[in-house]
Amino acid sequence: MKNKKFATRAIHGGQEKEFARALNPPIFMTSTFSFPSLEQAEGVFDFQAPGYVYTRGNNPTLKLFEERMADLEEGAEAVAFASGMAAITSTLLSLLKPGDEVLAHRVLYGSSHRVIQEFLPRYGIKTGQADLVNLQELGKRINPETRVVFLETPANPTLDILDLKGIREIIGSEVALVVDNTLVSPYWQRPLNLGADVVVHSATKYISGHGDALGGVAVCKDEDLAGHLKFNYLTELGGVLSPFNAWLLLRGIKTLRVRMEEHGRNALKLAHFLQEHPRVNKVYYPGLPGHPGHELARRQMEGFGGLIALELEGGAQAARQLLSGLEMIKLAVSLGDTETLIEYPFAMTHRDYSPDQLQEYGLNESLLRISVGLEDAEDIIRDLEQALQGL
Ligand SMILES: *Cc1c(COP(=O)(O)O)cnc(C)c1O
Repeated sequence: MKNKKFATRAIHGGQEKEFARALNPPIFMTSTFSFPSLEQAEGVFDFQAPGYVYTRGNNPTLKLFEERMADLEEGAEAVAFASGMAAITSTLLSLLKPGDEVLAHRVLYGSSHRVIQEFLPRYGIKTGQADLVNLQELGKRINPETRVVFLETPANPTLDILDLKGIREIIGSEVALVVDNTLVSPYWQRPLNLGADVVVHSATKYISGHGDALGGVAVCKDEDLAGHLKFNYLTELGGVLSPFNAWLLLRGIKTLRVRMEEHGRNALKLAHFLQEHPRVNKVYYPGLPGHPGHELARRQMEGFGGLIALELEGGAQAARQLLSGLEMIKLAVSLGDTETLIEYPFAMTHRDYSPDQLQEYGLNESLLRISVGLEDAEDIIRDLEQALQGL
């Protein structure tokens, strides 16, 4: 749907299907599909005829979700997964073999960090981490064994902004660039247009938007890579999305634009409030002109998202006290939901980083992460205001 705007494609994107003229797609809750004859079955198995075999390989509800995501990320093809981590691990395994290196940005979602630093080395894959905000450091770290560069921008939770076009220039065309776009969704940023080969998502977050379904997706720039990922990795490793969850995600996507706009408006208001507060030492939000990645974010993204990190005056004790003083805002991991959620990366999502890394990468004991929800901004601010007063 290249000639339509984003909001329209979020509602109508993907191949038009008859589906008995139902406004919403049916949920094809079936594990297998039958064939009228062996000849027909052989045609489908040979990829010569259209059709479905088994839901681990494909399913009409999943296919519509994949087509819609490919359309929104402006990629060739998408592959749906049971979770963001299934998408990330399958994508990395599909691109790497023993002896190859994956180089990652130092600040990553906690489980991605563990997969890269602990899991992949068990299979003979070399791994490195560097500060990829610093392009000179990237230039020094890249070597002939580097096959994949993996990063998030903005990065979770410090909201580092990484220069995708700059990174592509340095790594050349032979290294695959895999970008986790979970934090801002394709509404605000489309990394495939900025040099990425694969965009991965935890669809559990903004794509779903309602905190009810786990899901993941990898959108590929290239059809061959998508086919390799789907038929050699997804179907064999088996991290397949449920058709019911695909349906929930399709429902979430329809309102992606209005939700992201409101998450962004609420986050900016909260960021301004926090920035002025005497008990807050530092606010990380790429929409604030003082954020080190602000200018780059303005060039690379169309909005700044709904995630904020802050450092409190008073360190660990203040952080713990603030969490216990909140009335409406929930202490919970995850992000992108309608509810405002707060978490403490040092003790929760990022606890697998070493103590030195936590300090060096800014994941320190005073850092809290807020996923700004869709409640009225005044109520979100008031809850934080009363909790900050109690410090
Ligand atoms: C949540 C998250 C993931 C993991 O996704 P799941 O759906 O929980 O498996 C990966 N990357 C980022 C940036 C996330 O926030």
